[in-house]
Amino acid sequence: MPGGRELLLYGRGLHEAPPLAALPAEPPATPPHLRWHPLLGEWVSYAGARQGRTFLPDAAACPLCPAAEGRLGEIPFADFEIAVFENRFPALVAGTNELPAIEGIATSPAAGRCEVVVFSADHAGGLGTLPVDRLALLIEVWGARLKALRDEAGFAFVLPFENRGEEIGVTLHHPHGQIYAFSFVPQRALRAAQAQADAPVVTRLVEAGAPALQLDENGAAVSFVPPFAMYPFETWLAPRRRVPGPDALSSAETEALARLLGRSVRRLDGLFGKPMPYILTVQAAPRGFEDSFHMTIEIRPFRRDAGKLKYLAGVEQGAGIFLVDIPPEQAAARLKAVDPEGRA
Ligand SMILES: [Zn+2]
Repeated sequence: MPGGRELLLYGRGLHEAPPLAALPAEPPATPPHLRWHPLLGEWVSYAGARQGRTFLPDAAACPLCPAAEGRLGEIPFADFEIAVFENRFPALVAGTNELPAIEGIATSPAAGRCEVVVFSADHAGGLGTLPVDRLALLIEVWGARLKALRDEAGFAFVLPFENRGEEIGVTLHHPHGQIYAFSFVPQRALRAAQAQADAPVVTRLVEAGAPALQLDENGAAVSFVPPFAMYPFETWLAPRRRVPGPDALSSAETEALARLLGRSVRRLDGLFGKPMPYILTVQAAPRGFEDSFHMTIEIRPFRRDAGKLKYLAGVEQGAGIFLVDIPPEQAAARLKAVDPEGRA
């Protein structure tokens, strides 16, 4: 791509079409950096260039739609299945860069890589409407990127995620997610991985199959509301077998998870009869934790009632304690009452 960014196409079919013209490279911006928060003991990322990113363009100007003659986009092809490319506005970048000197505060280059994952050439739809095979391909893409970024490029922690809905700040409607590859394991991911190394927390949850919390199950995967959910209607998916990440799933497990993924999103969308804003993260083993980690796909919805969003307010921000209005057992019962195949 212009500016040396990498673009990768993944698909069931071989892609042979020649590229059309691509968007020109961004002018170089102030590189991002990290500052250490001395009270919380964790890094904060500063990336000023991101303020200039494309904000809610209409469909005709969507940069994630396929390119056409006279229409430039991020993906210079008339058609594709799943496309992955380096973000034009990255919060993490390759190599080292000059750091600002701040009295008494440790800084670090924001070393890493930010990728955009476009789920489909179709501007409309999302994980709840894509066919199972495309969802399975997406899970395979997450696995392929995890392998490339953690095992081959040597990043310590790789996080695939999807932010969905204007309510939580999504700037492009086209169905897409992102992948952040960090050169260190962020504190929260480290705590969760260490907890699993100390005791098989997730494996036990999956094996327990608590009827009050389980949403769906098939041969190789389950979906459920965790008994410690922090968001109303929080939904987790996991393979039954302890698999450290999507790169290690069998094809039967991938398909089982793909089916549950579509059903989970349709349940959330059906709950209040409109698309649920959510944050989906794929939790895979940080480097060094592959032998004890059980992967999960975690969906944190932000609508707690038809007209009410969940905000992180005083107690969450000031004390780090989440207040949840809907007990997990009640949330599971309400999700189970939604027919996940009842909507187109
Ligand atoms: Zn589009």
